[in-house]
Amino acid sequence: IQWEKHVRSSAQIHRSGGMSVLVTGAAGFVGTHVSLALKKRGDGVVGLDNFNNYYDPSLKKARKALLNNHGVFVIEGDINDAKLLAKLFDAVAFTHVMHLAAQAGVRYAMQNPHSYVHSNIAGLVTLLEACKSANPQPSIVWASSSSVYGLNENVPFSEADRTDQPASLYAATKKAGEEIAHTYNHIYGLSITGLRFFTVYGPWGRPDMAYFSFTRNILQGKPITVYRGKNHVDLARDFTYIDDIVKGCLGSLDTSAGPAPYRIFNLGNTSPVTVPKLVNILERHLKVKAKKNVIEMPGNGDVPFTHANISSAQKEFGYRPTTDLQTGLKKFVRWYLSYYGYNRGKRVN
Ligand code: NAD
Repeated sequence: IQWEKHVRSSAQIHRSGGMSVLVTGAAGFVGTHVSLALKKRGDGVVGLDNFNNYYDPSLKKARKALLNNHGVFVIEGDINDAKLLAKLFDAVAFTHVMHLAAQAGVRYAMQNPHSYVHSNIAGLVTLLEACKSANPQPSIVWASSSSVYGLNENVPFSEADRTDQPASLYAATKKAGEEIAHTYNHIYGLSITGLRFFTVYGPWGRPDMAYFSFTRNILQGKPITVYRGKNHVDLARDFTYIDDIVKGCLGSLDTSAGPAPYRIFNLGNTSPVTVPKLVNILERHLKVKAKKNVIEMPGNGDVPFTHANISSAQKEFGYRPTTDLQTGLKKFVRWYLSYYGYNRGKRVN
């Protein structure tokens, strides 16, 4: 009873024409920001997250507390739990599902292959089954990944480019997810939009990602390992600031209702930056020089560069990223120093 009360009140819509959204992976990096943005504009939001320990669980708890403070209730549970999902869809007539729960990270897949199958394939099917049976059927927007372009080096990547050469199990499960999503659209008419995010970064980010772990090591005086591509070519990423990704998520949710066919969009920044340049920017913001260990990229799932063509998302819902890496990292560093209790370069707690 208590549970239902919290869920219903969190799902309450506070604007006309608003939506009630189930956000999976709500205690994750992107999920936290998307949930807050939806809540802020008056939409109803209920979060679901299994709080797994892929990275620092205390960061997820802190994000949950932030969400609670803003009126977003986050249920602790797994997307593979069909009973829980049925209970949720019984309690609330969700108009939309923002599906962000996944096992992320390319390198971890070498140690934990089955967690990718569990969350990114089995979990996706369980969630889509629940959406199929729900009345009304919600529109679904979910996170795929730029990693589906795999070994394709023909940049910039457009949605129609080949995605049949994944370089990691992570990428393979995201690609499989796209095909599974397509069948649910084709057979059951579910409205499904896949978003291929390109290296998202920002405050409340993921400790397993390079910009985050570089920051931690630089501040602690520890060396960082910088990968270099073959023939001494620098790796580059189309780093995309979290606020731009949030705008893309909301834009696709807003255009996903009605007789929406299966859709897929790149959400990137369209201006790749090399990893050494990323390190330079961090050094400037942190006012500390990095100790660099430059090694040739081991074959562990990474690709040499990414670069998004975003014209489809631009045309469909006006997606236009506005934050460059320099500006975005400044905001990330400010958050990092305050969250981890640094004051003028010295840790205070
Ligand atoms: P994240 O790991 O911070 O968030 C994912 C959340 O999902 C976590 O809080 C985790 O606890 C939860 N989760 C995992 N498996 C679950 C399960 N079976 N049931 C319930 N909850 C589960 O990652 P993120 O960076 O916020 O990524 C969000 C989505 O975007 C993911 O699907 C990810 O694959 C995708 N993506 C992210 C990036 C990026 O650069 N951050 C790039 C491309 C794609």
